[in-house]
Amino acid sequence: MIKINQLYKSYGDVEVLKGISEHIKSGEVVSVIGPSGSGKSTFLRCMNLLEMPTSGDIIIEGESISAKGASVDDLRQKVGMVFQNFNLFPHKTVKQNITLAPIKLGLMTAKEADDKALELLAMVGLTDKRDAYPSSLSGGQKQRVAIARALAMQPDIMLFDEPTSALDPEMVGDVLDVMKSLAKRGMTMVIVTHEMGFAREVSDRVIFIDGGNIVESGTPEDLFSAPKHSRTRAFLSKVL
Ligand code: ADP
Ligand code: MG
Repeated sequence: MIKINQLYKSYGDVEVLKGISEHIKSGEVVSVIGPSGSGKSTFLRCMNLLEMPTSGDIIIEGESISAKGASVDDLRQKVGMVFQNFNLFPHKTVKQNITLAPIKLGLMTAKEADDKALELLAMVGLTDKRDAYPSSLSGGQKQRVAIARALAMQPDIMLFDEPTSALDPEMVGDVLDVMKSLAKRGMTMVIVTHEMGFAREVSDRVIFIDGGNIVESGTPEDLFSAPKHSRTRAFLSKVL
């Protein structure tokens, strides 16, 4: 579903991604772990062209995302993203946050978008917040709205960039539960996370990135219980 070939990304003279190659299968749940500043967000952001790769290729469902004529709107419809800081529209209600993009892009009528929003709000447990504004929600509620908003585009792939890092500890579980239920339904997911317990429980595969390279990738069992590389071991010894 996602093929990444020799992905490089520099900001000015600073090379942040140094030749990442990776294949992610349909329905696979992949967690990305690694130290701060190692390039995890940049890697994720390249996958939906929030950052333009310096070189290399990303092929999603058979199409190169940076090919001439490829549409960023089409790409972002296929690839949903959830950010650490929610990025909700503050002056729109919860329901409007969810219906805005599908209506604007002509994917749904207003009625269809409304129905979809209510279905998604039920799924994330926030039906009663449909007319609330983001400022009245807790962090965990905001993040569940952000997930519902991304799902409203009916994406094939969901990217999560530290979705629970900005949350108070008591909010983390509800957000992780929503992500778990998505994983169970077969969504293809790439999740940058510091939640090692979650990564271990939910992922099909874990990728360890350090210094802009994939150092090691394997099943959660392999990576957490029998890491092959000293850098992986050193990182895990600090976070586990
Ligand atoms: P991570 O998500 O693993 O913490 P990032 O991908 O955010 O790492 O960042 C990797 C490196 O790239 C860091 O050194 C960061 O300062 C740098 N960086 C990220 N975004 C930008 C940007 N827009 N401009 C310049 N440098 C950036
Ligand atoms: Mg990051």
